Amino acid sequence: MCCIPASPNDPANAIVPLVLTALALIALPQVLRFVRMLRNLIRSHAAMKAVFESLTPDELLQMVSRVEALGNEPSRGCLLIGKHPRPATGRCSISIPTEIPDFPWAGSMLTAQFVGWDKQSLRNPVEFSFEKGHQTSTTLSAGARFFWPPFRRDGKKRGGHVLSVDRYLKLAPDLSARMAELCPDQPAELFDYILNRVGIGSREVRLGLHPEWQQTYRRHTCPECKRPMRLIAQITGSAIHKRLSGGEFYFFGCVTHPQITASDQDWD
Ligand SMILES: [Zn+2]
Repeated sequence: MCCIPASPNDPANAIVPLVLTALALIALPQVLRFVRMLRNLIRSHAAMKAVFESLTPDELLQMVSRVEALGNEPSRGCLLIGKHPRPATGRCSISIPTEIPDFPWAGSMLTAQFVGWDKQSLRNPVEFSFEKGHQTSTTLSAGARFFWPPFRRDGKKRGGHVLSVDRYLKLAPDLSARMAELCPDQPAELFDYILNRVGIGSREVRLGLHPEWQQTYRRHTCPECKRPMRLIAQITGSAIHKRLSGGEFYFFGCVTHPQITASDQDWD
């Protein structure tokens, strides 16, 4: 108190510094805790990066294949993973693998094309189309591969694709032991980091799986048979054009009437 000069004219002159000092003292432990947390985060990230870089491409590939083998029924779809260059052309072509079961569009070349904005009609800025008999390669193919998330049906449950690091480690004790050996403090976090680094976490291109909505869940039904349409592809905007970053683009089709399709968009 003695060091704060009191002004006889304005008592606020004395109160304001006092309040500020009190607030700073109250906030100090939180700030320190935040700094400690940030430091630990940076340290553990650096440690995980070092572990990741020590793994051979073969071992990484084995881990991905091990996860894929955790299913007890064939996968209904896949994700495109791996390092791929960002196309600047506004065009993204993907060859749909023939292995997707009950999928009339399997084997086709799907193209997502940025067609520009039309604010008045709110038209989807991405158009999807199939190119048949056109032997171009996947534009995202450099170093990329398909990842087949394991499909599991346990007991009487409906079953579904497993996309959870914790469940992978629970289902594969060998993977869990390897992660504990590599990073005893944070085995699950390490595996999450590894899967993200190989591209499984990014989920930029989904084929045949369930759509992942950012904001609103929407259901598309076939106008012909009124049955729910199936997701053909979901592509992250930034994989098509940098101006589409923050958007997700969807292409649906009817399994019974494969020529009937619908597209959709969702922004975060
Ligand atoms: Zn239909």
